[in-house]
Amino acid sequence: MTPLDAGLSWARALTERVVTDAVVLHHAAADGSVEAVHQSHLARGWAGIGYHYYVRKDGTIWLGRPEWAVGGHTSGENWHSIGVCFEGNFEAEAMGEAQLAAGRELLADIIARRGELEILPHRALSATACPGKNFPLTEMLRREETAVVYAKLGDVPEYYRATIEKLIALGALRGVGGDELNVDETYCRVMTTLDRMGIFD
Ligand SMILES: [Zn+2]
Repeated sequence: MTPLDAGLSWARALTERVVTDAVVLHHAAADGSVEAVHQSHLARGWAGIGYHYYVRKDGTIWLGRPEWAVGGHTSGENWHSIGVCFEGNFEAEAMGEAQLAAGRELLADIIARRGELEILPHRALSATACPGKNFPLTEMLRREETAVVYAKLGDVPEYYRATIEKLIALGALRGVGGDELNVDETYCRVMTTLDRMGIFD
């Protein structure tokens, strides 16, 4: 996967991000090119586009802010996260196959290079509808090609464990003390995302 480069230039020097443990998903709430988003963020007085990647409806993936740099996409969370924005308004429309496939490919590429990290919609972190009620979150997070099954609670990666423990406590998962759990990676990822959105509280 090689994202396209629009050759964006920055209004000022960017800051290196030291921690990367999350990806935040956004929608643009509009149609348009990566240059158009860049210009609108420059007009706010920012260094330039705040997202690291921009996925268009035609399935092309564009470089935004360099992946090493602190982004400007989620208040209070930019210091540790990569921002991915999808062209369109998913409060009002549904995502097409090309864009969904490109988004999944991009997320798989980030995980392949950086290891497991949390993937969250913007609305899990801020009081916003972003990326929209029609955003195909479960489909975006599904990774059947690398389905890993965790047999016991102790096998579940740390960033999913609190959610799985909560589901066991709620009686939603079998397994005495987390034994014979047999949950797969996609399940853990989707449930962790829903948990961060407050669904199980
Ligand atoms: Zn957003």
